[in-house]
Amino acid sequence: MDKDNQFIIERENNKYEVVIGLEVHAQVTSQSKLFSSSSTKFGSEPNTQVSLVDAAFPGMLPVINEFCVKQAIKTGIGLKAQINKKSVFDRKNYFYADLPQGYQISQYKYPIVGEGKVILDMPYGPKEVGIERLHLEQDAGKSIHDIDPNNTFVDLNRSGVALMEIVSKPDLRSPDEVNAYIKKLRSIMRYLGTCDGNMQEGSLRADVNVSVRKLGSKDFGTRCEIKNVNSIKFMQQAIVYEANRQIDLVEDGKEIDQETRLFDTKKNETRSMRSKEDAHDYRYFPDPDLLPLEVSDDYINQLKNEIPELPDEKKKRFIEKFELSSYEANILVSDIETSKYFEEVIKNSDVKLATNWITGELFAVLNEKNLEISESPVSSNNLSKLINLIKDGTISGKIAKTIFEEMINGDQDPQKIVEEKGLKQESDPKALEELIDKVIMNNTDKVEEYKSGKDKLFGFFVGQAMKESKGKGNPQLINKILKNKLNG
Ligand code: ADP
Ligand code: MG
Repeated sequence: MDKDNQFIIERENNKYEVVIGLEVHAQVTSQSKLFSSSSTKFGSEPNTQVSLVDAAFPGMLPVINEFCVKQAIKTGIGLKAQINKKSVFDRKNYFYADLPQGYQISQYKYPIVGEGKVILDMPYGPKEVGIERLHLEQDAGKSIHDIDPNNTFVDLNRSGVALMEIVSKPDLRSPDEVNAYIKKLRSIMRYLGTCDGNMQEGSLRADVNVSVRKLGSKDFGTRCEIKNVNSIKFMQQAIVYEANRQIDLVEDGKEIDQETRLFDTKKNETRSMRSKEDAHDYRYFPDPDLLPLEVSDDYINQLKNEIPELPDEKKKRFIEKFELSSYEANILVSDIETSKYFEEVIKNSDVKLATNWITGELFAVLNEKNLEISESPVSSNNLSKLINLIKDGTISGKIAKTIFEEMINGDQDPQKIVEEKGLKQESDPKALEELIDKVIMNNTDKVEEYKSGKDKLFGFFVGQAMKESKGKGNPQLINKILKNKLNG
């Protein structure tokens, strides 16, 4: 890695490096929960999606949802990870009002997915981040503290929803890398359809582990874990705050306590929540209600065959086949919907123009209107028509921009706009010659100046000719004719 691009915090006499590892909780895309048939729909009335299993009524038994298992294995494959043919569900015991069972069913010693990796595209080159494991677990309910000053309310709709906990190795070194890592994970899971990655709805949250060490040191420092951060921006702010807090302690010759902290988004600071509990505090033991989970090689291979082309592979193909730059390919593959749109547009039109129009004009409109590409006001079909009109010389690039402005209002067919508004490019040399003659006649003084060496005036003539043609003149032809007339 290029040293200049590292995130380094400097103090008077020392330089520090930040070490970060993430435990990402990704909600499995699934109609029903991990061990019950209750719905997982977001935003329903509190406690309307709670089965007797989710509410831990006596005698209720969990039944594994095969679809969630499949989703976890697919995600593992997307993370180029080891899929474990045997995994075990354990009980992680603790008390909280939103956890009616008194334990969370999770996987501890034997997770369903083992080591894997994710590649990040950083400005200083590719960066590999190790994946430690991925395990399946239940989400807890939600305690609501801000409705009433004296009471806490509990909503169990989330209770029992399937989560994938994806644990990274402590390989991340900066807030930028954390940003790229979360986005890459989300992109992979969206391609796979295993997690929608919607951070506002809590489908993707992370515990952020942070430590610091003097630059060049081989040993890791003591880490703190910042719990349940639900936006990339907050993760980045929390890391910067926490790293500086720890460095202050080190500089003062003090110890760092290994603890669990909270990020206060209003004050932009982390606060101690509790000293870090050890695994043995949770009294993990295999859940006697659930058999070990076994999957066959055949099953894993069948899922491998179902995996779609993922962002890294798609990017490689786009670069090789379409000669896109790495930068362009990145933009087009990072979001599955964008890549689909792009591939639809180029089915019948020019790749280079499509790349420019999508990453330029279209993205500008989407940004401005705050729309996803799936909500694009211009369909892929109509954009490819517009590109073909440019390509075959029917319209100029400039006119295309005017037409595009029209297309935004109700996804109109560009061909129709061209016809209705008479915007067809003038490519008839005779017609162009006529209007160029007129421009020359009207500007005899400028012609003299040009001929006596003021080359810069050429642009003026082109401009006048374009204006005379109401923007419809074919620019290449105008250039050619003008050159002949003025230089001849
Ligand atoms: P636990 O299960 O107690 O939270 P793990 O060993 O599973 O502990 O690690 C949890 C996370 O902490 C992992 O993402 C790992 O990469 C990260 N981590 C471990 N050591 C450090 C460290 N010294 N600094 C920063 N992150 C770390
Ligand atoms: Mg942890």
